[in-house]
Amino acid sequence: MGMLPARVARYRAFASEGGPRDFVQDVASVQPEPSGQPEPSREPSEPVALDPERQRLAKRYARQRQALSLVNLGISAVVILVLLFGGVSFALRDTLAGVSGWEPLPSWQPLRVGAYFLVLFAATLVIGLPLSYYSGFVLPHRYGLSTESFGGWVLDFVKGLAISLPIELLAVLFVYALLAVAPESWWLWTGLAMLFVTVILAQLAPVLLVPIFYKLTPLPDGDVRRRALRLAEQARTRVRGIYSMNLSAKTTAANAMVMGLGTTRRIIVGDTLLEHYTPDEIEVVLAHELGHQVHNDIPKLIAVESVTTLGGLYLVNVVLHAVVGRVPEYHGLADPATMPLVAAALGVFALVLLPLTNGFSRWVERQADVYALQSTGKAPAFISAMTRLANQNLAEVEPSPVIEFLLYNHPSIGRRLALAREWEAGESRP
Ligand SMILES: [Zn+2]
Repeated sequence: MGMLPARVARYRAFASEGGPRDFVQDVASVQPEPSGQPEPSREPSEPVALDPERQRLAKRYARQRQALSLVNLGISAVVILVLLFGGVSFALRDTLAGVSGWEPLPSWQPLRVGAYFLVLFAATLVIGLPLSYYSGFVLPHRYGLSTESFGGWVLDFVKGLAISLPIELLAVLFVYALLAVAPESWWLWTGLAMLFVTVILAQLAPVLLVPIFYKLTPLPDGDVRRRALRLAEQARTRVRGIYSMNLSAKTTAANAMVMGLGTTRRIIVGDTLLEHYTPDEIEVVLAHELGHQVHNDIPKLIAVESVTTLGGLYLVNVVLHAVVGRVPEYHGLADPATMPLVAAALGVFALVLLPLTNGFSRWVERQADVYALQSTGKAPAFISAMTRLANQNLAEVEPSPVIEFLLYNHPSIGRRLALAREWEAGESRP
């Protein structure tokens, strides 16, 4: 997507692209925290039914978030178009001509590239701030989904910036150095470098990035831990760690995830889930996460992402050569004025690809659900956990199929319930 949605979704992205596999859909990519809603604590034995009033709210909430995403996309498009066709991009470059034109490599002027990027970063940040505040703070509070104070939200926002700004700045300087010295093959090296960084970030996520926002505590010995270890043993896989995450400090929603690579790989369960769900319900959630681990879904998703990213970068390369060759105002590929062009080409590509990558993600999630049903044999617990999540997280059980196809990276709860019922029916047949 354009630069604005990318910015807003940034801190989530660190933990999520090639990062964790959440247990439930979080439709709001504009909102960093998993969305959820407050649930009065229930007696475990109480049967769970879908709350029609909550579903009515869920529908309204989903409509509002989708509208906000569209507004966000529209703003990004306008910003990019003004930069590209309003002459703003060239004007900004010329204004920054006062910055030192130091050239450590032929045609690479890192100080001017850096200055250009910082101005764009600041401008998109300011333009996007009202929407970030509304979708990340106001709306989830209105629906009773957020427990975060305004100060806490600001702090998280600033932390996100403090992480993303240096990484993005370095990435831009690196890409423009490649554009200067390897104008034909820069996209290939950029793709490889991104794969490398993604793997590093996926590895660091649970030990370095997530702890900046949440507290992770190893799950003490007890029923939940025993169940998880039993499931892992049965799967002949090793759980390197089971952690609880203090989601409740920021949200009323429940969720769980797998995170990390290699030695940092672990299963994380939100305290919001641990507190309000029955042991059997928690077990099926753990089994779903273990399914991701058994199926090696994080490496798989990183591989798919890398291939699509490489395709996108190649496309940017073609567009860049075509445009820079025809528009004399560009002083070559490594001219910082090409930055909005690169962002626009990448954004369009990501948008076109979104249904495809979401489709792949939904398929992966379905396999994890099947795994959870097979390994536990507890379809009723799966069904009640899903129902509870729909009520608690204000998740639309049956979204419009078009919205699901375009935007959902998990199957809708309706489909997941249907899968469990089908599986149950299949089991009970002789
Ligand atoms: Zn999952």
